[in-house]
Amino acid sequence: MTATEFVDLRSTHLTLRDELDRAWAAALDSSDFIGGSTVVAFENAWATACGTREAIGVANGTDALELALRAMSIGRGDDVIVPTNTFFATPEAVVAVGARPVFVDVDPSDLLVTAAIIEAAITHTTAAVIPVHLYGQLAPMADIVEVADRHGVRVVEDAAQAHLAERDGRIAGGWGAAGAFSFYPGKNLGALGDGGAIVTDDHVLADRVRSIANHGRRLDSKYVHDVVGRNSRLDALQAAVLSVKLERLAEWNTHRRVVASWYADALTDSPIEPIRRGTSDDVFHLYVARTPHRDRLIEHLSRHQIGAGVHYPLPCHLQPAFESIEPLSLPIAERAATELISLPMHPHLTESDVLRVVETIAEFFRGCNVD
Ligand SMILES: *Cc1c(COP(=O)(O)O)cnc(C)c1O
Repeated sequence: MTATEFVDLRSTHLTLRDELDRAWAAALDSSDFIGGSTVVAFENAWATACGTREAIGVANGTDALELALRAMSIGRGDDVIVPTNTFFATPEAVVAVGARPVFVDVDPSDLLVTAAIIEAAITHTTAAVIPVHLYGQLAPMADIVEVADRHGVRVVEDAAQAHLAERDGRIAGGWGAAGAFSFYPGKNLGALGDGGAIVTDDHVLADRVRSIANHGRRLDSKYVHDVVGRNSRLDALQAAVLSVKLERLAEWNTHRRVVASWYADALTDSPIEPIRRGTSDDVFHLYVARTPHRDRLIEHLSRHQIGAGVHYPLPCHLQPAFESIEPLSLPIAERAATELISLPMHPHLTESDVLRVVETIAEFFRGCNVD
């Protein structure tokens, strides 16, 4: 029996081995390791791919969120609305700038935040909202931007799981005032290490991010620092890798959609329920379903060498790190956290891999008295 891995970076890099070797060799020869033409080339390519005027490479996705908020002068005294069903980095970035995360629940169908949920949480101290395009699904951005604009609230998209997800010709990251991306290796577009980017149409905001991410340097000066910034830059070696992988991203996303359609067909009569609106804007970073028998199902899959995960087992508002905020009840996300299971999803899965996963799930439900 061959294992079915949850993600398969080895296969990705095997198919690109020669191109990656050449890209690294070129980066070594140039000896520009921080900034320089390799980084600029990737930033330009990423801005073009996202349909935005600017892209700024940074050290990781968490920094991308933090730097976007800082460049908007969001900090102490400000509230930032965040869906509780997200990776911890989303509220972490809010706390890093000195603002307060205000956790909200999600829609039961796709587990994304909605405009109505956001509007109900807006107060006079709300400075921004961070919609998260979870699992590769775009949040309902047209409605969210409309509500945010009406209340004078900034929108920073957490697009770390939604590279090139698109609706009505507009791409993830290009809807709000800024979009934050992670290039963590397992993301749809991943580096060989950490990386991130901010995309925006606002040149002033982009220059503020560039300065803050580079020790607050004045952009045309090496030793004049306009603000106390920090160091959060995308390495040239990672930019070289990302430029190579970006050429395949659309093709990989297409294959993820095909894998998802195999799952959807095969799971039609299954007791586990996929979390999807099934719209074409989805880039399927993860393939998530729910079942009350989640923990035992994961054990069963693991015994059959099938990798599965949980995104996420503990909603952010229940994390020990946020114990000091007022106790909150966000029942939709809390219940989902006990039931969610992420099945193997990556661009190298075959239809027979998917059928084996689904058959192993069926065997679990036949074998135990669960109902
Ligand atoms: C991965 C991820 C991040 C953080 O990205 P890093 O590059 O790991 O810092 C933020 N938000 C979401 C939703 C993510 O999935």
